[in-house]
Amino acid sequence: MMQRSDAIIIGSGLSGLTAALELSEKEKSVIVLEKEKVIGGRTSSWDEDGMLVESGFHRHIGFYKELPRILKKAGISINQIVQWEEQVDVRVKGKKDTAVFGISPIFGPFEMVRGLIGNNHIVSMRDKLSLVPFFLKGFLEYKRNPDKLDQYSVKEFAEKHHVSENALHYLIIPLSAGVFFLPPERYSAKVFFGLFYPALPRFYRMRIGAYLGGMTELLANPIATRIEQNKGKVRTGTKVKRLIVESSQVTGCYFSKWGRNKSKSCYTSSRFSWC
Ligand SMILES: Cc1cc2nc3c(=O)[nH]c(=O)nc-3n(C[C@H](O)[C@H](O)[C@H](O)COP(=O)(O)OP(=O)(O)OC[C@H]3O[C@@H](n4cnc5c(N)ncnc54)[C@H](O)[C@@H]3O)c2cc1C
Repeated sequence: MMQRSDAIIIGSGLSGLTAALELSEKEKSVIVLEKEKVIGGRTSSWDEDGMLVESGFHRHIGFYKELPRILKKAGISINQIVQWEEQVDVRVKGKKDTAVFGISPIFGPFEMVRGLIGNNHIVSMRDKLSLVPFFLKGFLEYKRNPDKLDQYSVKEFAEKHHVSENALHYLIIPLSAGVFFLPPERYSAKVFFGLFYPALPRFYRMRIGAYLGGMTELLANPIATRIEQNKGKVRTGTKVKRLIVESSQVTGCYFSKWGRNKSKSCYTSSRFSWC
């Protein structure tokens, strides 16, 4: 049976759910089509033979602005669902000690200062200071001409600005692995600074929130519930196979359901359609 809606949203990751929520709040009819059995995309989590599996997203950064706003619309306060952490530990293979850095200017200012002037057994003051031109030049360059940063990997940019070996090994590499899951020679300095640059005005809110449960349960489900309360629909196990394009406009899609091999066809009109 063919059905119509103002918008078809492909994928129930945070982007898709956010778009669907925003549109449904504006009284648009929406349907979210998700190919997997569980919603959330890279924020999804599910029970697999009694073990909770998480697919991605696992830390909330205190300077995020949009996610708390979206969650609020779904009736969730971020403080209810995360355990805040105001410091990070850097553990060094082969060394007994751990370096502890305070990361929160307003929620843990003393730990922050202590971390900056301490930890000298692992990274000396000279090592720490060697990061200043790297970050300053990186942010300035990102503001002026982000594409220029694309010429360098993060490692090359660090070398260009004389980041010390220790600072590279004990600070940049762990930061890179923790945030991007990649060593700094494997991706561009534009990507690195591009993540942090928009956060600078809200850096004072920096701290890290560890989620208190599975992502689907804490994030995706409440948003989907609100979409459905707004009369939107969220369908899992529904893979979009092909878009229907008419006069350069996407007007519908073909999809298949779990367990069925054949794509169903959809009719198209001035409004988006699905079947
Ligand atoms: C391992 C890992 C850890 C991460 N940790 C963090 C973290 O700690 N903090 C943080 O802020 N960010 C983290 N991220 C990044 C964050 O998870 C993602 O940026 C975010 O979840 C992306 O959301 P999205 O909606 O753009 O994409 P996705 O979540 O990928 O959503 C896309 C959705 O579309 C669906 N889809 C794709 N094709 C089709 C189709 N043809 N038909 C129907 N559905 C389709 C997919 O199944 C998926 O559900 C992490 C990412 C990974 C991979």
